[in-house]
Amino acid sequence: MKVLVINAGSSSLKYQLYDMTDESVLAAGRVERIGMESAILTHEPAGKPEVREVSEILDHTAAIRKVLAVIVHSEHGVIRSIEDIQAVGHRVVHGGESFRESAIVTPEVKQEIKRLFDLAPLHNPAHMMGISAVEANLPGVPQVVVFDTAFHQTMDQNAYLYPIPLALYRRHKIRKYGFHGTSHMYVSRRAAEFLGRKLEELKIVTCHIGNGASVTAVKGGKSVDTSMGMTPLEGLMMGTRSGDLDPAVVPFVMGKEDLTIGEVSSMLNKHSGLIAISGISSDMREIQEAMEEGHPNARLAFEMYEYRLRKYIGAYAAAMNGIDAIVFTAGVGENSWLLRARTCLNLAYLGVEIDPEANLVRSKEDRRISTANSKVEVLVIPTNEELVIARDTYALVRSEESGA
Ligand code: ADP
Repeated sequence: MKVLVINAGSSSLKYQLYDMTDESVLAAGRVERIGMESAILTHEPAGKPEVREVSEILDHTAAIRKVLAVIVHSEHGVIRSIEDIQAVGHRVVHGGESFRESAIVTPEVKQEIKRLFDLAPLHNPAHMMGISAVEANLPGVPQVVVFDTAFHQTMDQNAYLYPIPLALYRRHKIRKYGFHGTSHMYVSRRAAEFLGRKLEELKIVTCHIGNGASVTAVKGGKSVDTSMGMTPLEGLMMGTRSGDLDPAVVPFVMGKEDLTIGEVSSMLNKHSGLIAISGISSDMREIQEAMEEGHPNARLAFEMYEYRLRKYIGAYAAAMNGIDAIVFTAGVGENSWLLRARTCLNLAYLGVEIDPEANLVRSKEDRRISTANSKVEVLVIPTNEELVIARDTYALVRSEESGA
């Protein structure tokens, strides 16, 4: 079965085409600047040169049409006919309390995703556009939605409720949901496999550190706490997001600087974190380069970032009464040996001991970076959210076909 995985944003759309017989990626790519005259399609077919096309792509339906055309193109294509695509899987950021797992798209499921627009106003409407665009271009092909929040639905009330009037939870579903769930689930399972141990027996802290960043406490394979909240703003300091701060800062700054709700929200989501402190960049590579050149605010930004990450790992060791493994993943987690080294150096009290040489190895493979003496296993596991989406899509569509 060929499965197309789609991650639709408001003005961009990423895709991967999987052959599920061996889980190989036949092609990957993205459409950027949707809605503009000079939209860009970048298509990377396996074993063939990359293709880049600039053209007018006015909406998501046109973007999917373009993607399908290049996938079956006589020269750049990877399959003969779009009829070979038997299922489509979508990443959906917010599943609220309605979705504890992935689901086949039905009219009811679409209705529910729309109901959740309030909770994810930037993401869910874009995902719906992706779903409708696939319906228009591939009528009758089953679609599956895979939620960033689903893995965290196992959290207990004491972890997911905020200590504010309960009526707000009842009326508006204000609570912690957590994100990056597909990644935290994937790397925690891979960690157990790598260690040759049963997931049910392990207490793992998974650190997904990319532009957006979150830490999850995974106990017995289940998320028991996670650093992101009702929205992805809570928790760690990120590239452009503040993460945790005193909630009183919000009304205070609105008053002092005469900011609207939209402006303060933009400040916290887009103009805070690494970019705000360093004044240089939201990109960890650039922060590290500036640090090496002696830029004091780049150093401060790095130190705050590491300090806040370390505090969360400590908190989750407390939440689970100990930890067996720490996993680093995503752009920064997989690549920044410096962040891993600094963070782990300060976790010596937990019995964490890093092997400096192993930590320096650059590889796309799962690997251990702790010493044989370390009481806690420290692993680097490249995440693969698209593969999880492809697998869930394949499994759900097959089981529906065999049940039908
Ligand atoms: P997203 O959240 O957009 O999926 P990624 O997981 O791709 O983000 O992570 C992007 C981040 O990874 C950027 O801040 C980038 O600087 C960082 N990164 C990538 N390579 C390195 C590296 N070699 N050293 C430090 N940071 C890196």
